[in-house]
Amino acid sequence: MSYLAVTGLRVKLKAFSLDVSLAIDRHEVLAVLGPSGAGKSVFLESLAGFHPLEAGTVTLDGRRLDTLVPEQRGIGFVFQDYALFPHLTVRENILFSPRLRRKGGDLPPGAGEIMALLKIERLGGRRIQQLSGGERQRVALARALVSDPALLLMDEPMSALDTVIREELRDELRQLLLRLGTTAIYVTHDRNEAATLGHRVAVLFDGRLEQVDPPSRLFYTPASVRVARFVGMTNIFPAVVENIANGSVGLRAGRLRLTAPTVGPVAPGAAVTAGIRPEDVLLYPPDEAPPQNCFAGRVTEVTPQGQSVRVTLDCGVSLTGLLSWRDFQIRRPSPGQTWIAAVEPASVHLMPPERPRILPDFGEGNKIPVEK
Ligand code: ADP
Ligand code: MG
Repeated sequence: MSYLAVTGLRVKLKAFSLDVSLAIDRHEVLAVLGPSGAGKSVFLESLAGFHPLEAGTVTLDGRRLDTLVPEQRGIGFVFQDYALFPHLTVRENILFSPRLRRKGGDLPPGAGEIMALLKIERLGGRRIQQLSGGERQRVALARALVSDPALLLMDEPMSALDTVIREELRDELRQLLLRLGTTAIYVTHDRNEAATLGHRVAVLFDGRLEQVDPPSRLFYTPASVRVARFVGMTNIFPAVVENIANGSVGLRAGRLRLTAPTVGPVAPGAAVTAGIRPEDVLLYPPDEAPPQNCFAGRVTEVTPQGQSVRVTLDCGVSLTGLLSWRDFQIRRPSPGQTWIAAVEPASVHLMPPERPRILPDFGEGNKIPVEK
């Protein structure tokens, strides 16, 4: 039986409705990823007992949660805005947890280690007002972890921090959650954060889960076009199935012909959407291209990004790949030049078309509809 089971949960807030069912194992960290307004906060707040349920049940470790008042649920909560007492010290804030206060004035065993792992062991006597944003969020995390919650809920705890601190704290939090074996739900709109922290990632759109999968599956086999866009699958284009042979599908997209692995039922003539991650579009000058799976095209765009340079070729469809800054410096692709995009068939992922022309069941298994 699952450690946390959310079954048919329904919450209605004026025009917004949330419908979620999912299960989480003990020691699992589930990231909930979705755009602003998807209902991520409402979902966590519902688990914590801040909204009445219209329907459904929540059990934690075999115990019914939804019938308990918030204080009895054994849940820890970390918010974006820290929710600390500014005039109290770090130590007083950590002790303030209702679960700890009942035990007297000492920090419990394990608190020192958690504070050390979060690098705040020397800040115990400081007032919150005297801390930076990153330090404050470390205190808020320490406070939640020290009380050893049966379930830890984190609502975009890093989103107010600047990039460098956010990435550092993200990696530390990952280590810490693994080390402590905390069962947690981590809400974010940042796909990288979701991939780093979640054993699995649940994608929420408009109050409904669209896909729940480990990061590798989510990033490489998104269940729908909007999930694909949200996880950074830059190359998304319509294609038609031409033939199927030996476990692979021949596709035509404009003048481009490419091959994909078969997934689910698919027939010649079917309209599909193909998706390719930009990391899987390898870029070469013509004289350096590999012998297979190559598409020539004119460079249409060269866009520097933080970690790499994005280069787009018009190969009949637009194919965008990434070059390291080093490769970019050496080879200098520029608009108008002919370059080569190489794409392995295994990197081509097929999805239902964004607006299906028949009404297929896309619930599971990435089934591809047959166009009549
Ligand atoms: P997210 O956290 O994913 O950005 P929220 O969970 O905060 O989104 O909000 C989801 C939707 O529910 C939004 O449309 C928001 O306006 C609405 N909403 C949130 N809280 C309330 C509330 N207390 N009463 C009415 N509507 C609310
Ligand atoms: Mg929110």
